[in-house]
Amino acid sequence: MMFGGLPYEAGPIRPPSEAASLLIRATRNCPWNKCEFCPTYKGTRFERRALEDVLEDIDKAAAFHGDVFQTAFIQDANSLVMKTNDLVEVISHLKEKFPSVRRVTSYARARTVARKSLEELKELHGAGLSRLHIGLESGYDPLLEYMKKGVTSDLAMVGGKKVVESRVSLCFYVVLGLGGRLRLEGEETWRNHALHTARVLNDVNPDYIRARTLTIKEGMPLYEKLVSGEFEPSSDVEVVREEQLLISNLEVTSYFASDHSTNILMDVRGQLPEDKEAMLSIIERYLDLSAEEQLNFRLGTLLRYFGYEPNYGSLKDFFVPARREAVTAMIQALEKDEPGRSAEVVTQFNRMLI
Ligand code: SF4
Repeated sequence: MMFGGLPYEAGPIRPPSEAASLLIRATRNCPWNKCEFCPTYKGTRFERRALEDVLEDIDKAAAFHGDVFQTAFIQDANSLVMKTNDLVEVISHLKEKFPSVRRVTSYARARTVARKSLEELKELHGAGLSRLHIGLESGYDPLLEYMKKGVTSDLAMVGGKKVVESRVSLCFYVVLGLGGRLRLEGEETWRNHALHTARVLNDVNPDYIRARTLTIKEGMPLYEKLVSGEFEPSSDVEVVREEQLLISNLEVTSYFASDHSTNILMDVRGQLPEDKEAMLSIIERYLDLSAEEQLNFRLGTLLRYFGYEPNYGSLKDFFVPARREAVTAMIQALEKDEPGRSAEVVTQFNRMLI
C-alpha cells in the first residue's frame, strides 16, 4: 500500500524545523484531542500502531530512500504515550537502519512526560531521542482550563524539568494571543497569560521556546466561540504587546524562535538573554508605527506566504521604499472600490495560514 507516494505510513504534521526529516508514524492522531484551538486531529480517533508494523515501516523507508536523512521525526501528537520499551525499540531500529540520522525528535504532551520516570526519559535519550516538542501554550491555569488543554502549569513544569534533566533537548511552544480579549478571574487574560507563561518558562528553562500566534479557523472548537461572540481575538497590536510583556519577563538561556507563518514579527528571535534587547527593540519599533503602517506591514508579511511579490520578510523590509510603495499601491487599489477591504484581506489571509 502507498501513502502519498510513500510505501510506508506518514502522519499529517511535523514542526517546521523538521521539514527535511524522515517521518515515521509510531501512533495515529492525538490521544487527548480536546484542545479548543487545535483542528489537526479533530474527527479522528487515536490509535496505537503494532510495534512490528512501525519497525516494518522503518525497513520500508530505508529500502525506499536509502541512508539519506540526517534527522528523523516520530509522529503523531504524543509518541511518549507508547510503552517506553517499545519507543526505545523504534528509535534503536531507526538509528540502525539510518546510520546517518543524527537527531531524532518527537511531539509529546507535558502530562504524559510528567508521568514518565526520569530513568525512562534517560533510557530514551540513551537510545537516541534528541528532542521533544511540547505544547506549553500558556502557563496561566485558568486559560489552560478554558482551552481544555488538560494540563496544569505545575504539570508542565514537572514534565519540562524532567526532560531537561534527562538531557533530551526540550522545545516548548507558546501561543501568542491565546487568551484574546477574554477576562478570566475578573482580570485581563492577556497579561496573566504573558506573565504566567514567563513564570513557567523561567522555571523550566527549555532549550527552545517557539512562538505561534493564535489564528482561529473552522474545524477548531474555538471557532464556534468566535462566531457566537464568546471569544474575541486580540488585535495585532495587542498580540505584540503581549509578546513584549512575555519577553521582558523571561530569565532563561533558551533560544526564542518565531518560525511560524502566523507570527506578526518573525524577526523577533534570538538567543536569550544576550539578544533580548534587540528583540524588544524590534517590538518597540513596530509599536511606534501608526495604525495605517501596521496594517501595511501585516499585509506585506502575509503576501509572502501567498506568493505575492514584493512582500516583507521582516520589519526591516518595511523600511525599503520600493517594497513599501508596492504594498501601499495594493492597499490603495483594495480601498478604492471598497473602503476597509485591506483589513478584511488581512483577516482572510490569516485564516488561510497553516
Ligand atoms: S494541541 Fe496537541 S494535545 Fe491538544 S488536541 Fe492538538 S495535538 Fe492534541
